[in-house]
Amino acid sequence: MYCRNCSKELPREAEFCFVCGSPVNGAAAAASPTIIINQPKQKAVSASGIVEAFFVIALLTALAFGGWIYFQRQNKPLFQVNRDGTLELNLR
Ligand SMILES: [Zn+2]
Repeated sequence: MYCRNCSKELPREAEFCFVCGSPVNGAAAAASPTIIINQPKQKAVSASGIVEAFFVIALLTALAFGGWIYFQRQNKPLFQVNRDGTLELNLR
């Protein structure tokens, strides 16, 4: 069933919503059509969750690679400004 206050899905035996603390009575459990309507949405959420997981993995990989490049260049900055104002790039 779902909390009538915040619409969070709750276990059937719950007496209080663990999100907002609202008391949950048996009348809320009669909203079974809502549960049927929400099932495709839950599948869509899990599918996008997989995409999100791939995105997070790609982001972490990029961060790790960037950190590795930064580590490789720690004793040699990526660029430096010379006293005469010119910008010197230290590209490998
Ligand atoms: Zn709630």
